[in-house]
Amino acid sequence: MKQFHLTYKNDRKFLQDLEEIRQWCGHNAGYKQVFRIYSQDMNRDHIAHVCALLDQHMPSALYFGCTSNANILDGELTSWEILLTCTVFEYRSTQIKLLQYPFTEDNYQNAVDDLKKHCEENPWVNSIEMLATIMNMSMKGFCDEMSGLGKDIQVFGGGAFNPNMDDETAYVFSKGNGIVEHGIVFLMMGGDNFHAYSTFIAGWKPLKRRFRITKADKEILYELDGKPAFEVYKRYLNIEKNENFFSNTLEFPLFLEREGVNILRCPLAVNDDDSLVMSSDMEENAFVKIAYGDPDTILNSIRHDGQKIADFQPEVIQTFSCAARRAFWGDANISRETVMFKDVASTAGFYTHGEFLRMDGTMLNFNVTLVIVAMREGDPAGERIDFCGPTVHQLNKIPMIWRFVSFIEASTAELEAMNEKLFLTAITDGLTRLYNRAEIERRINGALEEKQNGAGHGNVHLIMLDIDNFKMVNDAYGHKEGDNVIVALSDILRRTADRFSQGCAGRWGGEEFMVLLVGHTTQEAMDAAEQIRRDFSAVQFENAGCQTVSVGVTQAVAGESADSMCSRVDKALYSAKDAGKNRVVCLES
Ligand code: GH3
Ligand code: MG
Ligand code: MG
Repeated sequence: MKQFHLTYKNDRKFLQDLEEIRQWCGHNAGYKQVFRIYSQDMNRDHIAHVCALLDQHMPSALYFGCTSNANILDGELTSWEILLTCTVFEYRSTQIKLLQYPFTEDNYQNAVDDLKKHCEENPWVNSIEMLATIMNMSMKGFCDEMSGLGKDIQVFGGGAFNPNMDDETAYVFSKGNGIVEHGIVFLMMGGDNFHAYSTFIAGWKPLKRRFRITKADKEILYELDGKPAFEVYKRYLNIEKNENFFSNTLEFPLFLEREGVNILRCPLAVNDDDSLVMSSDMEENAFVKIAYGDPDTILNSIRHDGQKIADFQPEVIQTFSCAARRAFWGDANISRETVMFKDVASTAGFYTHGEFLRMDGTMLNFNVTLVIVAMREGDPAGERIDFCGPTVHQLNKIPMIWRFVSFIEASTAELEAMNEKLFLTAITDGLTRLYNRAEIERRINGALEEKQNGAGHGNVHLIMLDIDNFKMVNDAYGHKEGDNVIVALSDILRRTADRFSQGCAGRWGGEEFMVLLVGHTTQEAMDAAEQIRRDFSAVQFENAGCQTVSVGVTQAVAGESADSMCSRVDKALYSAKDAGKNRVVCLES
């Protein structure tokens, strides 16, 4: 496989370049050529002229292409407005075939059905490269259908675009099928000696805060966490509803988890009702996080995945990179993420309106992503190449946003840790780390309410405990030893509560405690109480020796209030005291 790069400046130069390719191919009738044409030039006549020259002077070559946001040549953003690559397939076994169909949101079925039919008829197909006009289209139905292709067929490609991001015009075209505004082109490739390896690199990083998609319909994102979606951009990023919305949000797309892969979605526009028009489908109930471009992460992923591509030892590399990445890096830096690939193989591609990649059989439509496809005919020929990615300090500009994000993430982590601590402090008791009285009361109320609504787990039991003759412990051995006794009983209570799925233990006051059990029989509650009593009486304190506890147990009756239940368990406890302490008394209603 050999790749040539050319552009169209004038007929004379173009025909010279074609002649060079013809000469290289010589008389090898078995060679097949395919031209890829990426045009930043939106003038259809200019594109048609180039196509006509190919038809006339390279009649046996296939060609296909699309309009683009910008083009990538030798791994770098190029000023060539019409970029052509000519791939020459040298193996007779390698086969290629082009298909083009009309393509809209309501009219993709025929394209996919026909593609499937072609794949079935041509079992040599192992890779499909696709270019499509996809602006303002939901890709969900199409992707679902494409996932039904033969499972070993790789699919990759990109969405046609326009150098002006706000312009919705885009074209695809291919030999014999004309230049169309709503179309899809497939290049089927395969044969025993044709190999492709496709992968993607995002490199964007999610901020920690998660939002749930509470309302979405296809690519319209209505609500996040029950609030209009735009509020997230307004509140957290101070992004206004104005003509700069798209360019501002581009740097902060959303991460959506789909099929276990984090895929990026860009907000393209904001509607009057504060819903957002996203670059592709969203999914109700899925979670999203705001993402930001982090140069370090991007370049690290490129170093990592770049080596895998180098190890494949490709002869040609195709890149489908999102125009949003170009906007993020800026034209001065964008090439940093692709330029190293040219040392591996001839690298070309374009800046897309969306990227496609089939992963483990599932067709995915990405945004803000770099899809890289490595191709080779025959076995790896060369030596292993060490892929040297760029390092961050080589950049002449490190966006300040990177440092701010680091500051925000660190501060947020501190605040979250502090909140967690405050929350725990608010509901627990300092000495015993059991729930405090307010929390255990709240839980008793909750359990009784659930029981009443029929939503709970059935029976509610309370076990109340009071250490026997505790004043004496304090008086005889000091307050410190008294505390040790309280803590020892608390540990036993915590362990007991943990044994029950719905159990919890709290400090009711001084040396009085309460255990709440939900969904158990009275016998189980009695056994638990008896076990606590026995375990506690077996503890040997350094000074205070053995101590005992009296225990009351009761079960809630239908419609009972927490007050009424607590006062009954208190009675049970005092019956235990009256009966001589160190025992369990159960009081039924
Ligand atoms: P009874 O067997 O009838 O329960 O007798 P008692 O001596 O245990 O009487 P009571 O339950 O009224 O005693 C409570 C004592 O617990 C009074 C108080 O000084 C002590 N106390 C309350 N909170 C703490 C604490 O946090 N640490 C210590 N060391 N003692 C406490
Ligand atoms: Mg007491
Ligand atoms: Mg006591």
